[in-house]
Amino acid sequence: MTTNEIMTLEDRHDGDLHLKQPLAIVRGEGARLWDADGQTYIDCMSGHGVANVGHANPVVLQAIEEQAQRLGVCPSGFYNDRRALLLAELVRIAPPGLERVFMCNSGAEAVEAALKFARATTGRKKTVAAMRGFHGRTFGALSATWNKQYREPFEPLVPGFEFVPYNRLERMEQAVDEETAAVILEVVQGEGGVIPGDGDYLRGVQTLCQERGALFIVDEVQTGFGRTGQMFACQHYGLQPDILCVAKAIAGGLPMGSTLIGPRVGELPRKGHGSTFGGNPLACAAALATINYIESEGLSQRAAQLGEQLMDGLKAIPSPLVREVRGLGLMVGVELKEKSGPYLAALAERGVLALSAGATVMRFLPPLVIGEEEVDTVVERVVEVLEVRN
Ligand code: PLP
Repeated sequence: MTTNEIMTLEDRHDGDLHLKQPLAIVRGEGARLWDADGQTYIDCMSGHGVANVGHANPVVLQAIEEQAQRLGVCPSGFYNDRRALLLAELVRIAPPGLERVFMCNSGAEAVEAALKFARATTGRKKTVAAMRGFHGRTFGALSATWNKQYREPFEPLVPGFEFVPYNRLERMEQAVDEETAAVILEVVQGEGGVIPGDGDYLRGVQTLCQERGALFIVDEVQTGFGRTGQMFACQHYGLQPDILCVAKAIAGGLPMGSTLIGPRVGELPRKGHGSTFGGNPLACAAALATINYIESEGLSQRAAQLGEQLMDGLKAIPSPLVREVRGLGLMVGVELKEKSGPYLAALAERGVLALSAGATVMRFLPPLVIGEEEVDTVVERVVEVLEVRN
């Protein structure tokens, strides 16, 4: 099919909830994407932070193929070998103390479970979240999400959510009280504009939660699995969350999410929560291969090193249009003094696909297997588009 044919057919039946680029992506390999007309692109999106191990990763593909031939689904009322192994792997790589795991299929579901577990086990009703935070689009996760563009059409949302400015400990101290079930934060705010959390702030929030009987939920749906230069961004700051939400990159491209649970979370209500596809053997096999690949190929270290290369390159651009370059590992944002949309479109025309974050930020989330030369090319293309529009 040509790009035009694909666009016409998809536009006819699509729910029309997204603004789309006029590009039909039909193939991927490593950090490269191809459109329906054969044009190639450097991918700086990773499908919104999913393809950390690269597109069509042969190790993940082989695991999926072998498992698909063996067993694809297994209800959570039965045991399964792949699931058992994955649970053990997740506990091994997570910050210490997170030894129980709930398996589901997406980031929003992982957050939804975290919020429900916090309410059920503390008996408290209030949740504190951060301005500019993003946690997903189901009702609970959406209630913890700040941007009114996502919230307003669906109000009223779940009651009891309060928002405070990110990276301001004194404001968190005012908000957390004896009614607070949980605080939920990202370590680097992704959708909100690539805003890294301050280590002292994050540790301070953790201590505050411990002192006031609230649970500390960390959302690593976007930052997890090597993206920021550690397996989990928590590990940069020695954080020990009570609940950790992960998804996106966990299963190398197959849908999966999980909620990891620490000792401060009490007993969960039996039959109180569940998921049909959660922990299915196919996604578990893909996740086992993905985690193994990230570790054996040193992708976290690679993200740290190439992230520095990318950030240094972008910081050196002498453009009056750039307000700030910031990030952690291969999660990098360039905040402009104007809307980022036209610059992202110009980058796409030059063969680099990147994302927006908020109205003015260009966000770069390449697969962690991206090459050094490709990183240099990305920087060159950004220089070009900023110069052209100067
Ligand atoms: N939490 C964070 C930090 C995210 O970035 C996202 C998605 O972008 C979500 C949760 C929701 O994940 P999903 O789209 O898989 O439901």
